[in-house]
Amino acid sequence: MSRYRIDLEKIEEWIKAKGFRKILIQAPPGLWPEAVKVSEFLKKNGIEAIIHGGSCWGGCDVAYLEAKSLGLDAIIHMGHSRFLERDEVPTYYLECRYVDPEPLKSLLGEIKDRLSGCKRIGVGLTVQWLDFLDELLMRLRNLGFEPYIGEPVGVLRYRGQVLGCSYHSLLKLEELVDCYLVIGSIFHGLGLAIQTRKPTYAGDPHTQRVVNLEESVKSLLKSRYSYIQEFKRARRIGVLLSVKPGQKRVKLAVELKKIIEEADKISEIVVVDDVREDYLLDLPHEAFVNTACPRLSIEDQERLRKPILLPMEVAVALNKASWEEMIRTPRYMAMEIPL
Ligand code: SF4
Repeated sequence: MSRYRIDLEKIEEWIKAKGFRKILIQAPPGLWPEAVKVSEFLKKNGIEAIIHGGSCWGGCDVAYLEAKSLGLDAIIHMGHSRFLERDEVPTYYLECRYVDPEPLKSLLGEIKDRLSGCKRIGVGLTVQWLDFLDELLMRLRNLGFEPYIGEPVGVLRYRGQVLGCSYHSLLKLEELVDCYLVIGSIFHGLGLAIQTRKPTYAGDPHTQRVVNLEESVKSLLKSRYSYIQEFKRARRIGVLLSVKPGQKRVKLAVELKKIIEEADKISEIVVVDDVREDYLLDLPHEAFVNTACPRLSIEDQERLRKPILLPMEVAVALNKASWEEMIRTPRYMAMEIPL
């Protein structure tokens, strides 16, 4: 039996209702075995299915270009909730939620111990765990906690949901809560921890670990600060502009290029799909600005080697914003013009 809830009948209904004949199935690598099962199901039903073998980082990364260039009718995008408001090619977001609540239930003992100093907790979950949200809240109450969740806003489609780049609904609760708990992975917790001064814990039901992220945030910010210093010394700056549909920020890239040139540096916009280390190392730019996925600057910086600053870090490097005032606030990861 699959670990994921995959309602094949619902997909079939959607395809038949729309009269689609040729479908692109896009999934992150961990879900490729499930993608193959979907493909086999479609084939049995007389639908042509093609598996996408490229990246699928998030709901922002829908393979419209590939589907259009192959003349396909629709896309089944697996593992993420809907991110984009409008589809360039009709897209079915197959979220692949977990069917087994046991790993989450058995994490509760660890949550109770680790969060013993907190009473009011802001709780967020990745989409895969959302089917167990109400049960989790009830169990947290039984343990004596007062859990709070955020309402859907922007790219967050569900109450209680978090995304690696969106924590708006939880951040709105900051005044109300003593600490935060993000269920998913360290990655998901860290994205919140860097934007708040409240203690933040990441709970991973797969590893059965609950981690206080304070030390990770401190060391991350120390490293970010040193990349900002390196950026200040750089003469030629590349502004990365993504072609991924949910990461394409043309206006931001143009504005950042202008701000950098006004600071007497040379700047070019560099168009990218996946951001690759070998390409960045070959490019003659000494540093880059990230207008794509904000998490590239956080998770992939070591791998990419040259500084890849977030827009707000550029503002700090050019003395247009104060580092102390910006760190651990929602402004830190805001993908907007830093003025
Ligand atoms: S922008 Fe980054 S963090 Fe946000 S959904 Fe896309 S890949 Fe995930």
